[in-house]
Amino acid sequence: MSRFWSPFVKQLVPYVPGEQPKVENLIKLNTNENPYGPSPRVAEAIQAELNDSLRLYPAPNADALKAEIADYYGVTSAQVFVGNGSDEVLAHIFHGLFQHGKPVLYPDITYSFYPVYCGLYGIESAPQPLDDNFRLVPTHYQQANGGIIFPNPNAPTGVGLSLAEVEAIVQGSPDSVVVVDEAYVDFGGETAIALVDRYPNLLVTQTLSKSRSLAGLRVGFAVGHPDLIEALERIKNSFNSYPLDRLAIVGAVAAFQDRDWFAQTRNAVINSREKLSAALLELGFEVLPSQANFVFARHGQRDAAELAQGLREQKVIVRHFKLPRIDQFLRITIGNEAQNKALLSALKNLL
Ligand SMILES: *Cc1c(COP(=O)(O)O)cnc(C)c1O
Repeated sequence: MSRFWSPFVKQLVPYVPGEQPKVENLIKLNTNENPYGPSPRVAEAIQAELNDSLRLYPAPNADALKAEIADYYGVTSAQVFVGNGSDEVLAHIFHGLFQHGKPVLYPDITYSFYPVYCGLYGIESAPQPLDDNFRLVPTHYQQANGGIIFPNPNAPTGVGLSLAEVEAIVQGSPDSVVVVDEAYVDFGGETAIALVDRYPNLLVTQTLSKSRSLAGLRVGFAVGHPDLIEALERIKNSFNSYPLDRLAIVGAVAAFQDRDWFAQTRNAVINSREKLSAALLELGFEVLPSQANFVFARHGQRDAAELAQGLREQKVIVRHFKLPRIDQFLRITIGNEAQNKALLSALKNLL
């Protein structure tokens, strides 16, 4: 705190990202990064772009990437917005599409950036409790609101809603924007992009950070009605006209083009998740049914904070949230086969 800080800065409560320790040989299962690298075509495309063209500004609307995403999902470019990670896309959504005066609704256990953006933009919120099985309850969202947002599948639980349940929420609030944050949808969920042509109040966000293994490149996007996209463009062009640099644009296009790599690595993560879930069950954990690239699990007898610490001492890092209702859970990112094995043997040492 300093006397130079504005009152606004003093009252901010920023997001705390998962740690990125600089320790060697660490088994890092704490931030849901993909254990497999991005498509080799991504590095090739970026190499090819490393030339004199870097003196020029990138395409302000990243048209090549919008066209690629539109083609992939069978929508038009006017239905696509791209940003510097889906976190930036989400920030613009909170800023430009959520209304003041009525609370924004999201689950009580969810992505912790949502309350941060509410604080940043002075938006009221009313968190809605997940049920005892950590499932989102669609009927809770049928009340007056200034907007609705939830991840599907949810984070950090990994539990998903069916497309019909998502549609019921969208139908229930025709006068508000309903945002489905699909950061993990490629690992087993159903995308609501299939619904955007029918619901002008639906906006779907996705990221290349998880299923396309490009957390370091910072690319995310939203798909929805052109009027919603135009609002986001207005915010973006009032803030930073070039959120995606030349390397990010060509890298992201290449990632979308390599469909085989995407399918192989995605399937590998899903298979490992099922194996790991079964092994954790054997060790006495309750594992929530996950549609994501992580599992959320609690042990019947052992304290989660102690388990996380015990794993850390064996160089395995998982995420533990000291939050109401979930402080006995560990969120464990699905690693490659060797990493998952190391996790299990470290757990066996502890139990
Ligand atoms: C990882 C994640 C994001 C952000 O992804 P970036 O594109 O890397 O900013 C958004 N929402 C949820 C639920 C996430 O887990």
